Amino acid sequence: MNHLVTLHGSRSSSAPGPDAYDHRVLGTRLDLFHQQEEGPGMVFWHPRGFVIYRVVEDYIRRRMREAGFQEVRTPQLLSWSLWEQSGHADKFAPQMFRVNSGNRPFALKPMSCPGHIQLFSKRVRSVHDLPLRYCEMGAVHRDEPSGALQGLMRTRSFTQDDAHIFCTEAQVEAEVQRFCELLRSIYADFGFGSLLVFFSTRPMRRAGPDAVWDRAEAALAMAARRAGLDFAIRTGEGAFYGPKLEFHLRDSHGRAWQCGTVQLDFVLPERMGAEYVDSDNGRRHPVLIHHAVLGSLERFIGMLLEHHRGALPLWLAPEQILLASVGPEQEGYVRKVAAVLGREGYRVAVDVRRERLSRKIAEAHDQGVPLVAVAGEREAERGALSFRRRDGRQEELPVAEAARRFRKEAFR
Ligand code: ZN
Repeated sequence: MNHLVTLHGSRSSSAPGPDAYDHRVLGTRLDLFHQQEEGPGMVFWHPRGFVIYRVVEDYIRRRMREAGFQEVRTPQLLSWSLWEQSGHADKFAPQMFRVNSGNRPFALKPMSCPGHIQLFSKRVRSVHDLPLRYCEMGAVHRDEPSGALQGLMRTRSFTQDDAHIFCTEAQVEAEVQRFCELLRSIYADFGFGSLLVFFSTRPMRRAGPDAVWDRAEAALAMAARRAGLDFAIRTGEGAFYGPKLEFHLRDSHGRAWQCGTVQLDFVLPERMGAEYVDSDNGRRHPVLIHHAVLGSLERFIGMLLEHHRGALPLWLAPEQILLASVGPEQEGYVRKVAAVLGREGYRVAVDVRRERLSRKIAEAHDQGVPLVAVAGEREAERGALSFRRRDGRQEELPVAEAARRFRKEAFR
């Protein structure tokens, strides 16, 4: 992603009011996204906002790939008969958008699990194929009541970083442990340190024998402990198909948001006929582990905006470096350097307006640009730039060294 734009900041940076850090206020002020009546609960991403979206998405893709997941994509619209088979028609119908084509009923997917089971079952699977890990940036739709909608936090259409592992019961613990470690490392990269973990155990009404629940709960608890997580137990709060771990992040305002989940599922593979051939040639149903790190990308970005108060870290900022000329003589130099940094992969903007430098810097920082690089006569002579951070730190660096210096902080 390598774009070159000119910022037209025009707002004064007066003292922020109490709602200034609401992500909806930031979304408008920073020109990131909007919502409107014709798409209730849907998001129109503006160019600057969609840069953030893509950076988050690309980062998650890479982390999942490195963790051994294969990325897939399954259909948006599937026949109602498939949702009957999966049980969603029974349990989830009020939240599903239904569509008719000819005489045939369909529904927009509210989650990607049934699609992933189709992929698993397309071939004869052996125990040696397990664990099989799929992930999908799944665009899902859920018909939430309009009163429940809230900016990016509660939408009717969102992208879930949805992942499923098909494995044997003996593999559950190691898979969950790996996932818990992955999740912690990802949250730390986004600047969240404080994590609350809840472990929901078997509910009164449940599927499957108690012996299986005993083993599943023990495996989940052991995996979380081995990953170094402390958790609180929510007795009886598990899904009817299996126990789960839920991960809540605490933002800079002290509020907790649910993001990641790991759920064990003994029901869906059997219900939808997913099988593998075991080493004794017998056919068995795999255990299905559902999980997500971010949950909804939209919601996660809303949290990021509020947590960082609109001033995103360098690697997430829509524009990472704004190059500001001191006078009209430096316009050529600014444009040349912007092209150099752009080729290095930085997201760069330029401000060559005939405007006071202090104003250019203040506007850029107000728009959330982490680094303002000033180019005056002295810098142009030396092939350098003077960098100013939002917190007031300054340093002069030759262009090539700057490209190296910020690399680690700018790309994840
Ligand atoms: Zn799932």
